Amino acid sequence: MIPYGRQSIDENDINAVVNTLKSSWLTQGPAVPTFEAALTQYCDVKHAVAVNSATSALHLACLALGVQKNDIVWTSPNSFVASANCAIYCGATIDFVDIDPNTGNLSVHALDAKLAKAKELGTLPKVVIPVHFAGQSCDMKAIASLAKKYNFYVIEDASHAIGGKYCEQPVGSCQYSDITVFSFHPVKIITTMEGGAALTNSSELARQIQLMRSHGVTANQDEMTEESHGPWYYQQVQLGFNYRMNDVEAALGASQLTKLTQFVEQRNELASFYNDAFRKQDKITPLDVMTDCYSSYHLYVIKCTSLNSDSHRAAIETLRDKGIFAHVHYIPIHLQPFYQNLGFKNGDYPNAEQYYKQAITLPLYPSLSEEEAQYVVDTTVEVVSQLSN
Ligand SMILES: *Cc1c(COP(=O)(O)O)cnc(C)c1O
Repeated sequence: MIPYGRQSIDENDINAVVNTLKSSWLTQGPAVPTFEAALTQYCDVKHAVAVNSATSALHLACLALGVQKNDIVWTSPNSFVASANCAIYCGATIDFVDIDPNTGNLSVHALDAKLAKAKELGTLPKVVIPVHFAGQSCDMKAIASLAKKYNFYVIEDASHAIGGKYCEQPVGSCQYSDITVFSFHPVKIITTMEGGAALTNSSELARQIQLMRSHGVTANQDEMTEESHGPWYYQQVQLGFNYRMNDVEAALGASQLTKLTQFVEQRNELASFYNDAFRKQDKITPLDVMTDCYSSYHLYVIKCTSLNSDSHRAAIETLRDKGIFAHVHYIPIHLQPFYQNLGFKNGDYPNAEQYYKQAITLPLYPSLSEEEAQYVVDTTVEVVSQLSN
């Protein structure tokens, strides 16, 4: 079976992990700040805080921005549930902004219209979380100008997008946002097994996130309320969590990061191969990539507008029968039972719902061979045309 995504681990990665296992630090130690420094350099940003998942990074990003009960957070329905759950963890209210069906990203037009309405109703969001779907940045300049006009914070959920660029800047530079979050889950662009990071140019936000990733406990005299009792002393100054990244993960991350540029180039080459093949087909539409974006191509998604719900399902089942582990990204978050219980329903975000019925994620990862990619093209074309009406 050809998977839809998989990690690339080489001997250097394995050595980095083994060397760390033989060192005196296993949990958060010297490898973590080394990895963080490499991230800040790659992304041209002031601070990076590594944590145990992107989910934790999203949670701490919301808390650092002061999200709490009675606050409102908006995100895209075309994402993994973690993009919305982070607001719920803080006791805030979540709402969604429908997508641009050509990119799968949050629609700036829909955002603009929803903000104008929310202003009248007094329901403006405190934070908006655009998700860089499949590795392509959202239109951050437009989102940043709306953030200024309507006074909200921006957290980029860039779980798909490390190694991508927007207007020549690396994703993660936070030029148009307060905080950017990455995921290092194995299916993402680079991996630490489990892991994530929050990046920011604000030293205060970085300090808050650092404090909260480890129980809200500090050994730093500057952050204490009284003189230290001695060299053993620490204080818990606020409520935090155990969201630390460990040194083994960080060592793997630093090793993976040295290959990020190459991984993203390989992903782009394969994506071009797919794009060239599928653009000759009238029943298969690759996602658009905007001219000011360099996608990291975490996912390769096609839209099949001649399929309906039943034939879409049949297409994915047939592809799997033929050895291609096709997938669907994403089931709209608002249609998950948990979110339906909060009052969301079918029909709320029609573009995301329609997109879900026609999108197919095909295999894409650096070690996918040309023969495999050709097999994916031939099989997908055959299956989609047979099932189209
Ligand atoms: C993978 C993913 C997450 C969660 O990442 P973890 O590191 O597994 O917590 C959040 N948002 C998006 C868009 C993702 O794809």
